[in-house]
Amino acid sequence: MADKNSKQPENVPGPWYVDQTCAPCHVCLDEAPALIRYAPGETHSFFFKQPETPEEEAAAENAMQACPTEAIGNDG
Ligand code: SF4
Repeated sequence: MADKNSKQPENVPGPWYVDQTCAPCHVCLDEAPALIRYAPGETHSFFFKQPETPEEEAAAENAMQACPTEAIGNDG
């Protein structure tokens, strides 16, 4: 389960985040390319945009379900 106390610093403010257990493995970027991207150096991913539409919420949920390290969380 993702830890809201260890969020990656680049996440934009809001309920969705990537924490510091990100591998990185690229899976979430395939699920939610409009919301999540790699940080420079590709050491981890982060939310550059919070979901605003039902479709984006679904993409974030899919990314969370697909993440092998459970690094994606929603504390909203
Ligand atoms: S799916 Fe999880 S481990 Fe893989 S890049 Fe995304 S947040 Fe990181």
